Amino acid sequence: MAKTGLKANDGAVALEDPMTKLDNSAIPLTADKTTPVEPSPYDYDLFVIGSGPAGQRAAIQAAKAGRRVAVAERMASVGGICLHHGTIPSKTFREAALHLSGYRERGVYGAAYTVKTDITMSDLLFRADWVIRNEIDVIRHQLRRNSVELWEADAMFVDAHTIRLTTGDGQAQREVTTDKVIIACGTKSTNGDFPFAAPVRW
Ligand SMILES: Cc1cc2nc3c(=O)[nH]c(=O)nc-3n(C[C@H](O)[C@H](O)[C@H](O)COP(=O)(O)OP(=O)(O)OC[C@H]3O[C@@H](n4cnc5c(N)ncnc54)[C@H](O)[C@@H]3O)c2cc1C
Repeated sequence: MAKTGLKANDGAVALEDPMTKLDNSAIPLTADKTTPVEPSPYDYDLFVIGSGPAGQRAAIQAAKAGRRVAVAERMASVGGICLHHGTIPSKTFREAALHLSGYRERGVYGAAYTVKTDITMSDLLFRADWVIRNEIDVIRHQLRRNSVELWEADAMFVDAHTIRLTTGDGQAQREVTTDKVIIACGTKSTNGDFPFAAPVRW
């Protein structure tokens, strides 16, 4: 028995689980585009909020199954935190440092071998920028090839089937309707009460 100090039926009112109100029914994905999909009255069968790795994969998977899919991304470019701030830049910096320092080839060419002396931050940024631009092209091409529409806008719920899209400058708005929504908007770091020397950029 759980040691909560509470007895069953001691006057406590059971709270309704808010999650039960959500439509959690699975998106019926078919194996390929040859299986007919029930026509829906909405603009899209699936609307994905966020173009990070989670949103990309969800959108492509649903599109491959014959669904009408759109993705909204509020950053200036696709790829999410993964591509612009996290995994890709950090691993590219590391790879650039290893390459330019000649670290991996020293066993062959000797301990003094380097590709470039005086490696600067702009050397690392140059390579990261190239990789990021390349990845953006790959993602955009993949979405286009699978007929996934891309909205460069901030997405907000109006109701369970209506999404309001607002451009970054706030100048234009539009509402679209969708049967299902996947919220793939990532996470945000917290700085809590920690003192930071500079403002945290998120
Ligand atoms: C510095 C750093 C290093 C990391 N290194 C690694 C690593 O080496 N390996 C690893 O596996 N993971 C790493 N991660 C974690 C990895 O980046 C995340 O797990 C991954 O990005 C999560 O993907 P996601 O698609 O869920 O969300 P995200 O990549 O965060 O993408 C979410 C997207 O949704 C968009 N969005 C949010 N709200 C809205 C809205 N209302 N309308 C429209 N768009 C919206 C955001 O602009 C964003 O582009 C790292 C993270 C950081 C910060």
